[in-house]
Amino acid sequence: MVKKVQQSLFNLRRLKKFGLSPKALTNFYRCTIESILSGCITTWYGNCSALNRKALQMVVRSAQRITRGKLLALQDTYTTRCHRKAIKIIKDNNHQSHCLFTPLSSRRRGIALLYLQLHRVTCEASHLQRALDYVKRTLRILNGRKVTFLCGDAGPLAVAAVVHHRLKNQTESQECLTKLLQLQRGVVSTDSEMPDELLYGRAGYLYALLYVNKEIGPDTVDETTIARVVTAILESGKNMAKEEKKAEKCPLLYEWHKKQYVGAAHGLAGIYCMLMQPSAKVNQEVLSELVRPSVDYVRHKKFRSGNYPSSLSNETDRLVHWCHGAPGVVHMLIMAHKVFKDEKYLKDAVECGEVIWQRGLLRKGYGICHGTAGNAYSFLTLYQLTQEKKYLYRACKFAEWCLDYGTHGCRIPDRPYSLFEGMAGAIHYLSDLTQPESSCFPAFEL
Ligand SMILES: [Zn+2]
Repeated sequence: MVKKVQQSLFNLRRLKKFGLSPKALTNFYRCTIESILSGCITTWYGNCSALNRKALQMVVRSAQRITRGKLLALQDTYTTRCHRKAIKIIKDNNHQSHCLFTPLSSRRRGIALLYLQLHRVTCEASHLQRALDYVKRTLRILNGRKVTFLCGDAGPLAVAAVVHHRLKNQTESQECLTKLLQLQRGVVSTDSEMPDELLYGRAGYLYALLYVNKEIGPDTVDETTIARVVTAILESGKNMAKEEKKAEKCPLLYEWHKKQYVGAAHGLAGIYCMLMQPSAKVNQEVLSELVRPSVDYVRHKKFRSGNYPSSLSNETDRLVHWCHGAPGVVHMLIMAHKVFKDEKYLKDAVECGEVIWQRGLLRKGYGICHGTAGNAYSFLTLYQLTQEKKYLYRACKFAEWCLDYGTHGCRIPDRPYSLFEGMAGAIHYLSDLTQPESSCFPAFEL
């Protein structure tokens, strides 16, 4: 393409020699060079290498010198065309990409959760009303395919049940709870293809049940239902451990998309955390015979730096996120310390805290899944456990970074306002920092 436009550039120069006016030259540029450069630009420009972009922009600059008029930079042509195309798709209900432009339900549920949090912190009634508005919209688009709190129907239903309960709309709250419990059929069946991790699997459904019990009242979801879900998670883990011949070392083993992840979002740490929740009421024997050795198995995967691998087969010490690495595993270690009262877990958790302090300011963004706010939550959890001011200081330092939102050259996340990836997560964290004693990582801690 560069060659082709350079040829036209040669013609442009010749026309200038013949004494054509700048206006005529600009017109010639528009019809030839610009039309070549902007042809289907929305499809190819995004994947262009920086070097190629530079070469093409050089052509535009040369043409600018020849025509002596201001020409649109290639980047601007690209942005304008993308906008135009997006508007066209948004207007066209039948376009196959139309759904890509409608706000995702997961985003709305996250915002509803954020308003609930703001209501908790400020007691401002309007926040509760906003939470209701958002959650009502998510309820209209439940799809029955996924069941977890974060990515499935259980999230909107659980959050709606809580919001209605706070607003004293008991009938509506009860309706949501009934629907939430109806989802258990797919979850407890052990021959279903359902994974067990937090984002898409059984642990994510278990969280939803424990969440309503915490927010509405301890027996809102009965013990038998919770026990059934717990049993399904345990059975699935035992089976996988047996299949992989690891039952001795790691009695509860799980995988997601054929990989044995370690972190909080898709892996072992997230699942063990849910099983160790006191409100999950897993019996002591199961905890010490199945959960504890599994937690120890993950502990032994620790890198020399104190960080943890993203999956059992991964040897690279790279990611320090809540979803992959120490910021997720630290919560598992803290839970283990509380449940088994063993100092070794606390020692490892403290080591995680050091890794996060050293490497936890992320360029990936400010959110909570793989952003700075998510990493900062580990300091709040460590502070709650140890009461050491050092952690509060670190939490504040990370908050300062979050307050300078957008000034560090961080990547803009795919969903810039969402709770897990974007700004809502950072705000959630900042609001939690005002009451560090009762802070709680959303959709994860209880
Ligand atoms: Zn992530």
